[in-house]
Amino acid sequence: MPESPEVQALVEELDARLAGRALTGVDVLEFRTTKSRSRLPASLIAATVSGVARHGKLVDLAFGDAGHLVISLGRHGWARWADASGGAEAAAAAATGPESAAPDAAAPADPPPALVSLSFDDGATLELTDAGNWVSLGTWVVDRPDEVPAVAKLGPDPADADFSRERFEAAVAGRRKQVKAVLQEQESLAGIGNAYSDEVLHRAKVSPVVHAAALDEAELARLFSATTGVVREAIEARRGVPIAQLKAAKVAAMRAHGRAGEACPVCGDDLRDFSFASTTAQYCPTCQTGGELLPLKGGEG
Ligand SMILES: [Zn+2]
Repeated sequence: MPESPEVQALVEELDARLAGRALTGVDVLEFRTTKSRSRLPASLIAATVSGVARHGKLVDLAFGDAGHLVISLGRHGWARWADASGGAEAAAAAATGPESAAPDAAAPADPPPALVSLSFDDGATLELTDAGNWVSLGTWVVDRPDEVPAVAKLGPDPADADFSRERFEAAVAGRRKQVKAVLQEQESLAGIGNAYSDEVLHRAKVSPVVHAAALDEAELARLFSATTGVVREAIEARRGVPIAQLKAAKVAAMRAHGRAGEACPVCGDDLRDFSFASTTAQYCPTCQTGGELLPLKGGEG
């Protein structure tokens, strides 16, 4: 699932390439992506992109007075260029250096289908894709981004300059809910999902399943520091990575998430899987749970 660091890099690339460009065509290949049925994406044809911004994990293509195209990427949504810009993207990849060149070497799976295709007056075509088994990507045409419920409900964003310890505590402290769930709850904190919540908790040395209300002052301080640190460092690290390489860059940067069976980079213990909500997440027993093993349902038990 795309989370704020990758979505931020995506919107920065889109802003650099699309600001000032007029929308010349819209092809909705999967009608279920259109969430604002009274205002179709094609209603923005001929309008000019005034800027591209991020709200939590959502993308906001602003078209000045004509409105906004807000995109929820859902679980498996993403974007790709489908124009003659392959050369430009390859050049950008080369310019970011050897470490980000590696993901291209891996043989890609079948590319995910384009669900919506947006064409611009410089010949560029942006495709919105979804790699899932069901359609999770959605688009809205609105006058203001906060007309989209998923934007209106967003809590404070740890990447924002004005995100403070006070705002963090207001969102987290005292909550009778497992702290990993609170971190991922978009109403509490915007932009964090399964991967970065694992990273935050591992850095903070906090158990993912303890209730937020049970955290002491020192744990809350570590959790605040880890939340802002992990999110902001990831945004800096992902900045400038071409959108086709962002998922691989994210996977490569994880220290705990997705690394069950590998050694914890802090203490050397084996990182472990545990079951959380409808998915699997990872933690270090020595660093985070005092050695306690968390339940893992089914599968690789
Ligand atoms: Zn450890």
